[in-house]
Formats: sequence, C-alpha cells, structure tokens
Amino acid sequence: MSVVLVDCDEVLTGFVPHVLNTARMYYGVDVNPEEISSFDLFAQLGLNKKAQNNLKDEFVSRAGWWESMPIRPGADGFIGDLQARGHEVVVVSSPWLNCPGWESARRNLLRREFWLQPKQFISTSDKARIRGDVFIDDKVSNVEEWSQINEGRLAILVDQPHNRENTTLLRLRSFEEILQAIDDHEEKRK
Ligand SMILES: [Mg+2]
Repeated sequence: MSVVLVDCDEVLTGFVPHVLNTARMYYGVDVNPEEISSFDLFAQLGLNKKAQNNLKDEFVSRAGWWESMPIRPGADGFIGDLQARGHEVVVVSSPWLNCPGWESARRNLLRREFWLQPKQFISTSDKARIRGDVFIDDKVSNVEEWSQINEGRLAILVDQPHNRENTTLLRLRSFEEILQAIDDHEEKRK
C-alpha cells in the first residue's frame, strides 16, 4: 500500500480546456490545447495584457468557475483503480491565490466527482514538503523539487504539451501507464 499524491489540474481536471472554453466564449479566442507549449497559459492566447488580466479577474478568480471545471476522461476510474489496489489517495493542489473560496470549491468538486473526503485534499504551493510514496504532477518544477526531497520514491510527470521538452523525468502518457509504474514500484519494494 502506498500513499499516492495526485495533482489536480491537468491530471484529474482540465484547467487548460476550461480556460480555453472561457476565452473562446467571451473573447473569441480559438486555441487548441495542443498548442499550449509553456506553463504560462494566459500569455499564449493572443490576448493583450488587459484582456489577459480581465480573464483572470472576471472568471478565474471565481469559486464557481473552479467548481465547474471539466474532469479529464478516465480520471474517476483512475482514482477508483488506485483505491481498489489499497492505495491511499491524497490530492495535492497549489491554490489560486486570487480566488476567495478556492479551497472549498476544490473540496466540493473532489467530493462530487471522485468521492474524496476533505482529509484527502491538501492545498499548498510547496508540494515538495508533502510526504508520500508516489507523486504525480504535470509541472516539471513540482516533480523535480519533490524528487529531490523524497529520494528513492516514485515521481511521475504526467505528459502535457507544455512539458514535452523535459527529458530527465519519468513522463507517462496515460492512466494505464501510471498504474503500471506504481505496480512495478510496489513490486520492487517487496
Ligand atoms: Mg497540474
């Protein structure tokens, strides 16, 4: 049994598609998620600074926007598969500091979509401090920092267009590949 730390956005939920949908609806932006090549999404929408800030302040700072975020295909099955293997799942997510009520919105979504309890959610901007056996995230710096502090444990980078230039981390493309890597890691520890 492992404690599996799972990031939320771009692992379980679709922050990027949610921003792109909002930008399409209100600003007529037409960008494909595959075109997002760096972690700073807002700078890649072809919007001027004022419109970028407006998008952040008008929409992305609302708790309701966070609570209505789409779920990535297969994510609920993935959480179920982890739990069926006896793993303890803890979602570790970095807060959107300009959004009042962000933590409750996230807790509500995790309960509604994944049946996760409040104690299975940690909000922190310093993920490397959180102890676990497995760490799953799509942000290169998060995975690097966690690996450095938690040596010998399994750190997985979830493949996304913005992290494809990385060649040093274990980057996996599907939930099936991630489950397999965790199974292999467990096997080695026996
Ligand atoms: Mg993420």
